[in-house]
Amino acid sequence: MIAPLALPSNFMEHRPTIISLTTMHESGLRILHEAANLRMASSLDPATLQREVKGADALIIRTGGVVDAALLDCGKDLRVVGRHGVGYDQIDIEAATARGIQVVYTPGANTQSVSEHVFAFMIGLSKHLPRMMSELASGNYHARTSMTGREICGKTLGIIGFGRIGRRVGEIAHLGFGMKVLYHDIVPAPEEVELRCNARRVDMRRLLEQSEYVTLHVPLDSSTRGLINRDTLGLMRSDAILINTCRGPVVDEAALATALDAGSLWGYGGDVFTVEPPPAGHPLIGRSDVMLTPHSAAQTEEGLRNMATMIAEEVIGVLRGDPPINPVNDPFQVEHMRQQRGLAPLYKGSR
Ligand code: NAD
Repeated sequence: MIAPLALPSNFMEHRPTIISLTTMHESGLRILHEAANLRMASSLDPATLQREVKGADALIIRTGGVVDAALLDCGKDLRVVGRHGVGYDQIDIEAATARGIQVVYTPGANTQSVSEHVFAFMIGLSKHLPRMMSELASGNYHARTSMTGREICGKTLGIIGFGRIGRRVGEIAHLGFGMKVLYHDIVPAPEEVELRCNARRVDMRRLLEQSEYVTLHVPLDSSTRGLINRDTLGLMRSDAILINTCRGPVVDEAALATALDAGSLWGYGGDVFTVEPPPAGHPLIGRSDVMLTPHSAAQTEEGLRNMATMIAEEVIGVLRGDPPINPVNDPFQVEHMRQQRGLAPLYKGSR
C-alpha cells in the first residue's frame, strides 16, 4: 500500500500536541519541546485522561496508566501512542490498530539495566545479603557464621524468554560467572546467539528441574500469565532462586509465598508485582529470603535517557510521516485502517 507519492495531508500542517502521562528524562523532554506542544497529564485516573487527551496528536505512556479503547475514543486526533519502555501490556493494541493509531516502543533501551538488576538479585540472595544486613544492623555480628552462602560460578541458570534481556543475561552468566545456561522460548535463538551464551534450548520442565537460578523475561500475555504457579513451582529445585523482572502476573504470588514458607525454594528476587504498587500486607514483602524492588530495574540514568530519547524521536518521527523504527502494531495495517475510516494517511508516500 505504501507508494512513493504525496505527503500526508496533516504532515507538518500544525505544531502537534503531545500528552505525556508522566515526566521523563530531560533528554527526551528537550526533543519533544522542540518539535511539539507538550502537555503533562494531571493524573492517571481514566476520567482525567479521557478529558485531557482531547486534541492531542500523540500520547506517551510509561509504566503507570492504561491506554484502552475508551481513552482512544476520546483522543479523536491521536495518530501515535508511544510506550516509554518495553512491555506494552497496558495498551490495547488491537483497539489502537482498529482506530488507525500507530503504537511504538523502545526495545533494547533498558536491556543492560534490567540484566544487571537480575545479577543484583542473584548475588544478593546467594550471599543472604538481606538477612546479613539486617542482622548486622541489629547488632548480631555473629550472623556471619549462622548462614552459609554459595557461589554462582558453575551453577545452572534457566532463562525463560530468551529475547533481548534474556540473551544479555545469558551472555553475562556464561562469560562473567561461568554458569551453565539453559533457555526456554517459543522461538529458537539463532545459533550464534546460543554459542555466545553457551546456551541450550530445553522445555520448561527440564529447565525448572535442573536450574539453581530461574529468571523470567517473557512479555505478559495470555500464554505467560500465571506461568509460574503451584505446579511449575513444584518442579523447581529446593535450592533454586527465582527471579522475576518481567511482569508481576507471570508469577502466582500466593503460590510462591506458600512454596517459600514450605522451604521448597532458596529465595525470590522480584522487581514487579501483580498489582502495582503492591497492597499492604503483600505476602512477599518483609521476608528475609526475598529481595524486592519497586519496578525500578530500568530506572538507571542510562536506561531512562535511552528510553526517553528513543520514544521522543520515534513519536516525533511518526508525526512527521516517517515510518516507525520500533512499531508494535503493523504500520501497513494501521495505514489501511486509516484509509478505511477516511483519515489522512500517517506516512510520507502513503496513498
Ligand atoms: P523481547 O521481546 O526481546 O523478548 C521476549 C522473549 O519472550 C521473546 O524471545 C519471545 O519469543 C519470548 N516469549 C514470548 N512468549 C513466550 C512464552 N509463552 N514462553 C516462552 N517464551 C516466550 O523482550 P525483552 O526486551 O527481553 O523484555 C522482556 C519483558 O521484560 C518485556 O516484555 C517487559 O514486560 C519486561 N521488562 C521489564 C522491565 C522492568 O522495568 N522491570 C524493563 C524492560 C522489560
